[in-house]
Amino acid sequence: MKVFKFGGASVKSAEAVRHVVDIIKSFYNDDIMIVLSAMDKMTNMLEKITDSYFYGKYDVLELYNSFVEYHFNIINELFESVDDKVFIEFNLLKDALYKKLKKNPSPNYDFEYDQIVPYGELFSTMIMHNYLNKAGIKCQLYDARNLIKTDNKYREAKVDWDLTTGAIRLYVLPYFLDKSDNRSKIAITQGFIGGAAYGYNTTLGREGSDYTAAIIAFALKASEVIIWKDVPGILNADPRFFNDTKKVDKLSYEDAIELTYYGASVIHPDTIKPLQNDKIPLYVKSFVSPDAEGTEISERKTTDKLEPFYIIKPDQILISISPKDFSYIAEKNLIDIFSILDKFKIRVNAMQISAIGLSICINNNLMRVGPLIKILQENYKVKYNEQLNLITIRHYNNEAIKKIKDNKTPLLEQISRLTYQVILKNDLI
Ligand code: ASP
Repeated sequence: MKVFKFGGASVKSAEAVRHVVDIIKSFYNDDIMIVLSAMDKMTNMLEKITDSYFYGKYDVLELYNSFVEYHFNIINELFESVDDKVFIEFNLLKDALYKKLKKNPSPNYDFEYDQIVPYGELFSTMIMHNYLNKAGIKCQLYDARNLIKTDNKYREAKVDWDLTTGAIRLYVLPYFLDKSDNRSKIAITQGFIGGAAYGYNTTLGREGSDYTAAIIAFALKASEVIIWKDVPGILNADPRFFNDTKKVDKLSYEDAIELTYYGASVIHPDTIKPLQNDKIPLYVKSFVSPDAEGTEISERKTTDKLEPFYIIKPDQILISISPKDFSYIAEKNLIDIFSILDKFKIRVNAMQISAIGLSICINNNLMRVGPLIKILQENYKVKYNEQLNLITIRHYNNEAIKKIKDNKTPLLEQISRLTYQVILKNDLI
């Protein structure tokens, strides 16, 4: 069986939904588990709804109404009869969200986020499930909150692998194994969302649907995963910053992990590991041209010389930390600094050590960086530079470095066998 992941752009209108169904139809001989994201930019809209609900930022009802109306219009275009059961299910979901928004929020923003934002996926899968059945493709809907079991670290929930693989094998596997009616099987579930104890929703981090697809593929021992995107495959640079991008035909798991680690936003960083563990190939393909080749990520190492890969992490802050008493930056100080970073859940994107100083480059997360600097200042001298880009070139060559660095003055520069990293002021690229 195969696992297909469709992102928001692939289901942004009624016409787009029809196109996705055509793609699924073209795989009529295959068993397929579909993992679906929220439609278009609905996750962003739900984040705004959560902010309004929690902080009273915008008019929550007005936003709720446009969220509901957006989905209603799509349903209205896809289904003719108002008696169709899709309208009943639509009303149930919209009433449940309304009821939630009418309650007073708890003091935990991340918890509230996870109780509201999953509605994007709940609506999209409800619509797609009904539409597939209407199009003659018998399809089973699974609620991902019963399959992807997590802890209660809201907004960045960690998957409980034993519970999750157990649940997927218990609920989903028998459906795919049952060959009594001699037809290939299609099922659908939500990406990005999971379930914690006591029936609360959790989420896996933005773009988490890719990760959901990988988890399900691992649990069901799928033969492959296809992530359908609006680009022809994985490109060697982000087209928002570079105009001469090239599609990469093949990547090893190792390269894919490194690229997502350095910030390539093309797939969720946690996606590769479960696939690599079971040697399940991942294809990134275009839903616009489904027959085109896309990119294959697998065990196979390509023999071709790889193009330089450019990854830009914008909005970085470089913090230089040195002990107030002029002592060396040695193990004791490092342990102290890194345990503070761990407490603030801050990941270091690049770092450099000298005798009496440590420089770390991190995402400039307003909520966390201010308090972090304050704590560090208790025992260390702290200086920082903001509005920086961290640029990584994997498989660099001299020409690639020259293209990025040119005559600019780096704030930090590092080079290893396969990877070059540089921090530049963000107006320099
Ligand atoms: N809908 C979520 C997001 O936009 C998750 C996903 O699409 O992967 O981040």
